[in-house]
Amino acid sequence: MQDLIAKTAELLIKSKHTVALTGAGMSTESGIPDFRGPNGIWTKNPEAEKQAYQSYFKFQQNPKQYWIERMTGTSWIHELTKAQPNPGHFALAELEKMALLKSVITQNIDNLHQKAGNKRVLDYHGNVSLLRCFSCDTRYDPQEYELEKLLAEDRLPPYCKKCNGVLKSDIVHFHEAIPADVSTESQQEVGTCDVMLICGTSAAVYPFAMLPRIAKQYSSKQKTIIVEINAEPTPLTQEGISDYIIQGKTGTVLPKIVEEVKKRTSENKHRL
Ligand code: NAD
Repeated sequence: MQDLIAKTAELLIKSKHTVALTGAGMSTESGIPDFRGPNGIWTKNPEAEKQAYQSYFKFQQNPKQYWIERMTGTSWIHELTKAQPNPGHFALAELEKMALLKSVITQNIDNLHQKAGNKRVLDYHGNVSLLRCFSCDTRYDPQEYELEKLLAEDRLPPYCKKCNGVLKSDIVHFHEAIPADVSTESQQEVGTCDVMLICGTSAAVYPFAMLPRIAKQYSSKQKTIIVEINAEPTPLTQEGISDYIIQGKTGTVLPKIVEEVKKRTSENKHRL
């Protein structure tokens, strides 16, 4: 494994534009289970999966009821806001500070990359800590809306201050389109990168799973190197989309990569 860590550190140092794609595996070490693993939220509670598939239709049919259920129910989503970043998140934030990582495109909705300090994060499936206007996509901090007061005064749903559209959670529900701004910027990042780190995702959920495949298609032009960091091989490993996998936990492997980058950059300085 050490050889692959050294190889990845060297790639990052030489890269002009590295992008990280992340998924639920990135946050399991912060105590947030994935969906379908042995301890997955849906493995333990299949009813929650059925409900998740209904959320978007509920919102479209009756936004008031959608909001009342979100605010009074006991969904796992409420727990997400209490979670804290783990060493894997901090390692990616450190790479961005060192100017070796341009952006993180995440499927996670938990806001942990931002909490760790990453500035350029594209929340592909939205962010649990934000509200989004269904009409114009403007995001809001929920604190601007005093949701508890709106619930108590029977004034839900909240409305957009710009266009008066109905607000929903920023989370992208099943059957809902990826917000246009995030989708466009993600494709630009993927089309530009020369190194892609894919961390803790099985890359089985579409359209996110297209992103590494798009990078692979572009790679004949600009030679994008695709590195997976995952506890187990994934379809990307099996289909030969990734160039190699570092098999292990993101909370262990990513900090080791940062350590190796620091070692190499300080050796280079001493040589000058
Ligand atoms: P997934 O569950 O399909 O895949 C997770 C992958 O990460 C698996 O291959 C697993 O082996 C690996 N893994 C687990 N822990 C790891 C660790 N510590 N280090 C390295 N690898 C680890 O998850 P996905 O690909 O992100 O897709 C599931 C969907 O679930 C996404 O759409 C996402 O939005 C949603 N989701 C998000 C959260 C969150 O916000 N934290 C949590 C659960 C699910």
